[in-house]
Amino acid sequence: MKPEIAVLGSVWTEEVLRALDGHYTCHFPARMAPDERAAYERDVAPRIRAVLTTGTVGLDAAGAAVYPGLEIVSVHGVGVDAVDLDAMAARRIVVTNTPDVLTEDVADLAAALLLAVSRRLPLLDRYVRAGHWEEKRPLQPARSLRGKVAGIYGYGRIGQALATRLRAFGMEIRYFQRSAGPEPQLRCDSLRELAAASDFLVLCAPGGAATRHAVDAAVLDALGPEGTLVNIARGSVVDEAALVEALASGRLGAAALDVFADEPRVPKALRGMDNVVLTPHVGSFTVETRRAMASLAVGNLDAHFAGRPALTPVG
Ligand code: NAP
Repeated sequence: MKPEIAVLGSVWTEEVLRALDGHYTCHFPARMAPDERAAYERDVAPRIRAVLTTGTVGLDAAGAAVYPGLEIVSVHGVGVDAVDLDAMAARRIVVTNTPDVLTEDVADLAAALLLAVSRRLPLLDRYVRAGHWEEKRPLQPARSLRGKVAGIYGYGRIGQALATRLRAFGMEIRYFQRSAGPEPQLRCDSLRELAAASDFLVLCAPGGAATRHAVDAAVLDALGPEGTLVNIARGSVVDEAALVEALASGRLGAAALDVFADEPRVPKALRGMDNVVLTPHVGSFTVETRRAMASLAVGNLDAHFAGRPALTPVG
């Protein structure tokens, strides 16, 4: 009999659905109407052996309690901050994610955001489309990257892949994380010290309780009116209200953001700012990487149900 699995979240690529097809009986609770959902939780949930979820949807303890026979949670993404890891460990539920396969594309997006915000690409694009070039409207020059300091918060897989790219632009790298990391001579003693030393502060650390609002008003002030914040990590890492306030008052120069506190909602104030570049959480959203993530996320389920260890267990 095919294992029955719950596929959480409502948007899944064809790659994922194709990889699951034929091997699993899939249920999509997010697509169910409330009465259908109640019947599902009563009649089907007890048979569910696996959950496939996204990095942002995750699975909390209450969500997992619906599935008394749950054996494995496969996260389609590297960030597991939305999964209650303690609750899963207490029930001996295996948790897997998709590290490595997305590193290069996420680092590409971080570099692209850094370029886009420093050279003000969205603003220039709007300028040309609106006919302002032909009208000879005044335009301020952008700022160059060469010789500037990029401070990376979280010098792991993505942080280091980003550093490789930024060095090619002539940028100097500094970082902060808890451990010494691979180049201790570049490590600052705190996030605030890193912000003070940086022209661009790029967030590449995981979300979750340990990093929640790590970037607060004090860190933004240390980055300063000439500084730029780039966030490809998680919206929770930044105190978003403090960010809006710092940008609005000119205490922070600019920001480029792929992730937000309450996705898909983005504060209206940010949407109206010309010194802000916004993307809809798309760090890994390329054909190639989504294919690789689908293969790994489903590969973890396949390994588990074949009686083998998961390919990429968390922890
Ligand atoms: P990783 O290799 O585990 O690197 C994370 C780094 O952050 C580690 O070097 C770690 O070093 C540091 N870190 C962890 N907790 C910290 C803390 N409390 N304070 C300071 N530093 C801390 O992970 P990765 O593969 O590079 O991914 C990083 C994050 O990027 C993911 O967790 C995810 O949230 C985000 N992401 C976003 C997208 C997107 O679409 N925008 C896509 C993929 C990933 P220490 O443990 O020594 O502190």
